[in-house]
Amino acid sequence: MNTEIDELEELYQEVILDHSRRPRNFGELAEASVKVHGDNPSCGDEIHLAVKFDGNGGLEELKFTGHGCAISQASASLMTMKLKGKSRTDVEQMLRAFHDLVTTGKTDGAKNLGDLQVMRGVRKFPQRVKCAMLPWRAVEQALRQSEGEVTVSTEEPMID
Ligand code: ZN
Repeated sequence: MNTEIDELEELYQEVILDHSRRPRNFGELAEASVKVHGDNPSCGDEIHLAVKFDGNGGLEELKFTGHGCAISQASASLMTMKLKGKSRTDVEQMLRAFHDLVTTGKTDGAKNLGDLQVMRGVRKFPQRVKCAMLPWRAVEQALRQSEGEVTVSTEEPMID
């Protein structure tokens, strides 16, 4: 049985620290289709996600800026790497798989998530689940729009 210290160590393992210190796809995106401001007031995390859709509604390009805890920023960095170039169907599948992974630890749909599986450790810490989900909530919101700017908060319920 793991102690809480072990779990916290698991939570902050190397991949997370690396991505929070050197976030990938960090910056402004020229010609963004949708910009989403994601807010996690319980931790103070914020991200600004910009996505560009391809002709079929897939994610041709995505970039983010933001600030907050290591979990939120690393999750955004890992997510943008994973979702870039993916079809809408793939993005929706990964969104569900990631949500399952960080809320229940279920790994059934997680095989395609790669390094994002390190986020599994947050399921023991409900406040941290919000941090990990923040960029995914932003993508979920982006998929609902075809253009424009929108805000989403982790205090709002997930879209079904
Ligand atoms: Zn946070």
